[in-house]
Amino acid sequence: MLKNIVLIRDPDCNIYLLDQEILIDTGTGRHFSEIKKFIEADFNASKIKAIINTHCHYDHTGGDKKFRDWLGADILIHKNDADALENATETTAAALFNVKAKAVTVDRKLANNDTINTKNFSLKVIHTPGHTSGSICLYDKNNNFMITGDTLFADAFGRTDLPTGNEKQMKESLEKILGINPKHIFPGHGNPKSNGIDFLIKQLLNKIS
Ligand SMILES: [Zn+2]
Repeated sequence: MLKNIVLIRDPDCNIYLLDQEILIDTGTGRHFSEIKKFIEADFNASKIKAIINTHCHYDHTGGDKKFRDWLGADILIHKNDADALENATETTAAALFNVKAKAVTVDRKLANNDTINTKNFSLKVIHTPGHTSGSICLYDKNNNFMITGDTLFADAFGRTDLPTGNEKQMKESLEKILGINPKHIFPGHGNPKSNGIDFLIKQLLNKIS
């Protein structure tokens, strides 16, 4: 892992702690107390000021409310996925987890090219629709890494058959990431990957007509 990026392996989705300041995604919330203990043991939780959701799916956002209540942190998500979160709509895909999503107030709606800065990182919002309409990746140019949510995994791209998913948009989003060609990717599930991201994406693009 890169310095100042901590991967917290929630069984439901990968949670990343960046610079002790930003939490990326929160899992379903089922494992909130274990994750809280883990963070408290090694980090200063009072420094965490924002929770950024890569997209609105329940396995990434179900814990938002618990984490916000604990941390007093703002919740950020792309504007296209904000409604799903704020109104707990079927776009959260909570039904896949046999639960009803809970409405969560969004503090800041993100748009393409917005920037979120921490002590060591400058994260640029890359709008990458396809998995959901408001899916984003976060790119740090200096360290050449990208948080890719469920858009790009170490060996696959995210499914496009859920509400607001779109295969054509997924293709364009993968091409966008290919144009940036980050050295490291940190996906929403599975393992991070370093090097050969361009080769990976070219192979995946062949699978989309
Ligand atoms: Zn998802």
